[in-house]
Amino acid sequence: MNYKITGGKVLLRENGILKTDEKDLFIREGKISFRPFQTGEVFEGFDARGMLVMPGLVNMHTHAYMTIMRNYADDVGFSEWLFKRVMPVEDSMPREMAYWASLLACMEMIRTGTTCFVDMHMYHRQSPMAARDAGVRAFIGRGLVGEDLWEEGNNRFREALEEKAEFESETLQFVLSPHAIYTCSPNLLTQVAQKGRELSMLKQIHLSESKTELTDCLVKYGKTPVRLLWDLGFLDKKTILAHCVQMQGDDLDLIHESGASVVTNPASNAKLGNGFAPVQDMLDHRVNLCIGTDGTASNNTLNMFREMGLLSLIHKGIHKDPVALPAQTVLDAATVNAARALGMEGSLGVISEGAAADLIFIDLNEPSLFPPNNIVSSLCYSANGSEVSSVMINGKFVMRKREMLTIDREKVYAEVQKYADQYLVKA
Ligand SMILES: [Zn+2]
Repeated sequence: MNYKITGGKVLLRENGILKTDEKDLFIREGKISFRPFQTGEVFEGFDARGMLVMPGLVNMHTHAYMTIMRNYADDVGFSEWLFKRVMPVEDSMPREMAYWASLLACMEMIRTGTTCFVDMHMYHRQSPMAARDAGVRAFIGRGLVGEDLWEEGNNRFREALEEKAEFESETLQFVLSPHAIYTCSPNLLTQVAQKGRELSMLKQIHLSESKTELTDCLVKYGKTPVRLLWDLGFLDKKTILAHCVQMQGDDLDLIHESGASVVTNPASNAKLGNGFAPVQDMLDHRVNLCIGTDGTASNNTLNMFREMGLLSLIHKGIHKDPVALPAQTVLDAATVNAARALGMEGSLGVISEGAAADLIFIDLNEPSLFPPNNIVSSLCYSANGSEVSSVMINGKFVMRKREMLTIDREKVYAEVQKYADQYLVKA
């Protein structure tokens, strides 16, 4: 279906600066246009009066299946969190659980204005099936661990390639996803880098998340995790680095020179006691900065509005500088910077001629946004996600006037509750 969107305030960028303008949008075959429909073109009208029409947010790092463990392992030490709570559940859960938990994640993301997410998962086929059925744009990777991609019994890489072959589409793409430098050997990381170049695929990895990861790496390899990846030829423009909390020496120079992107996860890093990424330093080094929520076991939401506000406030506080991380810098990180990291610059995260119609409609009459003195500020500092009224992805409505169109909420709740009752270990 084509749509004519009328009466809304549209968030545009002019010479890199965000501004709003009242104008009509014409959605043709999943793409945004400012060119009116001609006679004979069939379209449906959508009244956006009282709404801000803006690009959907991009959650650049999460584990969608983890919604099953929301608020399940909080206020405990990191090793209890990982080894006694999260991992036993992950190991015992049947694969189908991940489909329902990932659909729940998609529902939460849609409701809070995220139209695209980058996922690292561990249950074959479930995350791509959920993203496909929800109609959400996603970049998905099967988590990889071990010594060698090709070793007997290492089926994860085979699964990763199978998913790509089965599900790749205009809205679903696949990312090579080695878990971390402490769960993957240098040999495996080199193989992934080679495969990435061969298949022209994006890569993602958790990097320098904790002090332990950094000190262990210094002891084992005599270099920082960033330098290790640099020396292995892993870092390039198609590389997405989640966390990067512990940066040392010339780490940020190497990241900048390689063209790799960093995803900061402020809530997860704070919640797990890992600290704060040096985000201002990253910006000073002209590193492409993006934002992620991480999984719900370590956040505990997938709400990018909360993440954006938190990011700005944390860094203003740390630097004792009210000018640090201004609203537009944060919004850029959640939209255009993400597009750059995903190789979709100009066609994602922006309202412009020919860009993907991934749009969210924000009700400006919600009390949290009123009066609309400064809309860009309100998106970073006031919005809590509940103001998102309608969501369109690739030209299709997935939520309209707060009604979910692609996901059966009651069915998802029933299934997720069933697995939670059966598999979560009660404290
Ligand atoms: Zn993660």
